[in-house]
Amino acid sequence: MLIFKELKSRIVYDFLQLVFPRVCLLCYDTLVVQERFLCLQCKTRLPYSHYWEEKDNPAAQLFWGRVPVEWVIPFLHFTKNGVVQHLIHEIKYNKRHDLAEYLGTLFGNVLNSSSLKMVDGIVPVPLHASRLLERGYNQSEKIAQGISQSMNIPLLSNVIERRVWKSSQTKRNRYERWQNVKDAFQLVNREAIAGKHIMLVDDVLTTGATLEACALKILEAERVSISIVTLAKA
Ligand SMILES: [Zn+2]
Repeated sequence: MLIFKELKSRIVYDFLQLVFPRVCLLCYDTLVVQERFLCLQCKTRLPYSHYWEEKDNPAAQLFWGRVPVEWVIPFLHFTKNGVVQHLIHEIKYNKRHDLAEYLGTLFGNVLNSSSLKMVDGIVPVPLHASRLLERGYNQSEKIAQGISQSMNIPLLSNVIERRVWKSSQTKRNRYERWQNVKDAFQLVNREAIAGKHIMLVDDVLTTGATLEACALKILEAERVSISIVTLAKA
């Protein structure tokens, strides 16, 4: 009976492998059992920023004179039509929230041996309710969950709320974007972050306008310091 059961599950497994082979998202090679989403070779070759080794990195310089932040660390470099764009596309448009979480855990592993290992709490940049409804999840929160798991640092997801949302940001210039986002966030739980070093998490760093607006709100709490991390930098 047991043999029959085992045989049956083996057949189911083989069938699933045939129909939904586990392949690398980037090179389509078959993954070995321990691998998820990416083969070892593609994982090794990701365009890591290494900005966790350099405090005054170009991403940090983007915020100079705008908002006081401790560290700014994008995990990967984003290039047009590159591998990171492909991964972000999978997360945003093919609803691969498990991929967002997975990349978050890889990022967390790296941050564990950086100056950010001592932060007190992780806050994802919130998504507006209508966008959340459309997508089904907040990708920044999924990335933050992955980071939280591998760093063993609490995720604080109800600290900031997003209030205003107007049409897509992508076609606006920097000033228009700023006008649109500067009042978009509301600090709803200042006690949860008072006296803490907060790691603010977003998916992609472009102009930094959204992160700046969000960071300024967080800084309204007492004795708070902020570091910013993103999955990628454009
Ligand atoms: Zn691969």
